[in-house]
Amino acid sequence: MKLKFIRLIKTLNEEIKKRVEKLRKVIDEYRYRYHILDDPTLTDTVYDSLMVELRTLEKKYPKLMSPDSPSQRIGGVPLKKFEKVKHRARQWSLDDVFSFEELKEWEIRNKNILAKKGIKADFDYVVELKIDGLKIVLDYKAGILEQGATRGDGVIGEKVTENIKTIKSVPLKLSQAISLTVTGECWLPVKELERLNQERRAKNLPEFANSRNAGAGSMRQLDSKVAASRNLDSYIYSVEEIRSDIVKPQTQVEELKFLTDLGFKVNREHQFFKTLEEIQNFYQEWEDKKDRQPYGIDGMVVKINSKKYQIALGYTGKSPRASIAWKFSPEQVTTQVIGIKIQIGRTGALTPVAILKPVKVAGSVVSRATLHNEDEIIKKDIRIGDTVIIHKAGDVIPELVEVIKRLRTGEEKKFKMPTECPICGGKIVREKIIDSKKDMSSAHFCVNENCFAVEKEKMIHFVSKKGMNIDGLGKSIVEQLLSEGLVSSIADIYSLKLGDLEALEGFAEKSAENLIEAIEKSRQTIFEKLLFGLGIRHLGEEGIGLLKKELENSQTELGQKYQQSSLVIKKPTDLIEFFEQISSEELSGINGFGERIAQSVITWFSLVENQLVLKKLEERGVKIASLKSKTLIEKKKLDGQSFVLTGSMQELTRENAKVLIKQAGGKISSAVSSKTDFLVVGEKPGSKYKKALELKIKILDEKELLKKLNSH
Ligand code: NAD
Repeated sequence: MKLKFIRLIKTLNEEIKKRVEKLRKVIDEYRYRYHILDDPTLTDTVYDSLMVELRTLEKKYPKLMSPDSPSQRIGGVPLKKFEKVKHRARQWSLDDVFSFEELKEWEIRNKNILAKKGIKADFDYVVELKIDGLKIVLDYKAGILEQGATRGDGVIGEKVTENIKTIKSVPLKLSQAISLTVTGECWLPVKELERLNQERRAKNLPEFANSRNAGAGSMRQLDSKVAASRNLDSYIYSVEEIRSDIVKPQTQVEELKFLTDLGFKVNREHQFFKTLEEIQNFYQEWEDKKDRQPYGIDGMVVKINSKKYQIALGYTGKSPRASIAWKFSPEQVTTQVIGIKIQIGRTGALTPVAILKPVKVAGSVVSRATLHNEDEIIKKDIRIGDTVIIHKAGDVIPELVEVIKRLRTGEEKKFKMPTECPICGGKIVREKIIDSKKDMSSAHFCVNENCFAVEKEKMIHFVSKKGMNIDGLGKSIVEQLLSEGLVSSIADIYSLKLGDLEALEGFAEKSAENLIEAIEKSRQTIFEKLLFGLGIRHLGEEGIGLLKKELENSQTELGQKYQQSSLVIKKPTDLIEFFEQISSEELSGINGFGERIAQSVITWFSLVENQLVLKKLEERGVKIASLKSKTLIEKKKLDGQSFVLTGSMQELTRENAKVLIKQAGGKISSAVSSKTDFLVVGEKPGSKYKKALELKIKILDEKELLKKLNSH
């Protein structure tokens, strides 16, 4: 067993190592195309998504870290055609985050770093737009532009002074005759990109992928006439070094003002904030209007305002700790296909659905994408295990765009449409269909006309009030979920993600959130509800009630068996274990149960497909809270309370009363003392009664004792 476990861990580690190596290789190739050739073949968000995966793995498995990993490198290598220049101050990149939670973590991390240095930090922030351009490094001597360079690899850049001089907003002479190095972003206006691409289309030249690459391409032209023709612009945001004897800015706010006063073009949309919480609205506002700006923006740069803290925080391998890029929610990300499942539609059509490693896209998490039909799988060559690009914009259903085949390991599995319906076992036929666009394709159909209806009824029953009671999950939504391939079995309800729902027709963001919340709430359920929801034939609400009572009652045969076993039913698979231990004879012994119900229950729990559903429910967080185990009963009822009995009983014998009290966790004493909780009084009580009155001990008659014993 132990050996098997070690072997399993080893294979897992091997797999992760291979994945990391593959990611590095592929990312390096993409970096080369982007930074050196200015000709990317992936969108930036897809690239970022691969980078996030690599960084996450490196963080989780620090042993796999390597200094030549693309996660540790800045930009690209300077082109040979330009003179190389060593930067006076090292040029950095920025670490990025994709959510407010990660931004908070960044703050906490920074506070902890300073706390270790004995500094109790109280940060405030400046938030700037993250202009999607090309970083430029400008050196001024006595107020005159001496050199302009690209960032290059952070240490060495390309000298592009002549091209920089063609940018009208870069001052050739400053308002003060000081010597300093500043950095900023050179960007190509969106309109310019459209114009350039139009020209290129006319000349049959390949178009630029985005303004950043077009801008970078323009800046890296040997002939500065080309750069001049492209109307490049600039925003300067940082002073890297001041070589004159002047008072230096102490905060980022002061620095931006200082740069403006010197004559630089500074983006005016920056804002000062006291706390991170205040930044959220600003971020949201810009996420909504980013596409209507003359320049590309791919996020916000959050900077700690105080220079004192900036310096104390220093740098990670490639970025300053005091600044972070909070990128906008990407509409395209990468993830892996972990399975392909079949779902049944209203017409009996079987649709393959990709089950994805949950991934955040367009602001919410998605876990599946419809693959439409077998032809689509073949056309896109989608295999289980593949890394794929997922696209989701706003309310659109997530779509699997393409497979990143370069990340294949050879272990990916091809998918085959089943020959029998995986839902009802019926026969499957393949038929030609014509879609709304009059495109011809073929789909698989289950010949059992009731297949969809049965599946739908099962699910409606499961989520109903008496079942798992999932608010807001009515008939029509169940039908919608099934038809869209979001669920194909009851357990799938518990793997739904917000992003899967938002795309459904008529599903506003709020109702999607409400449903996710209701599903979450239903995870913690009780014995009766889960059993009812499972829809076991013949076992109705009443039968479940009888069964529960029986198990909780230590006086019955079955109850005793349950109470004495080590099993405490608190999760779905406990039910399998429990019903394995009992026979249908034992079950049918329950008063009011009968042979038919008993047989049906035992059979249901013995079927592998049902066991699988229970397992999945458990894996997806369903818990049973309220079936009282023996320990709970004892504790809850008389739980250590002490009893004294006096007088003769009517219904119970004194002996029986004692046994019941003990079974319910109570203690029996022979004499009344201040520690006695209750005196149980029968007919003709003795002196104990008087003493109890004196000590103000609670008195119970036989009826009251029975009530107490039967309570809960
Ligand atoms: P980055 O663009 O994520 O962030 C750092 C840069 O942000 C700085 O160097 C600076 O130039 C810029 N910036 C803009 N506004 C700023 C401001 N107000 N303050 C400070 N800095 C500001 O990192 P990077 O290292 O330049 O490159 C990574 C980028 O390149 C990512 O966006 C990535 O998607 C893209 N990339 C894409 C591909 C591809 O194939 N599509 C390949 C490689 C890299």
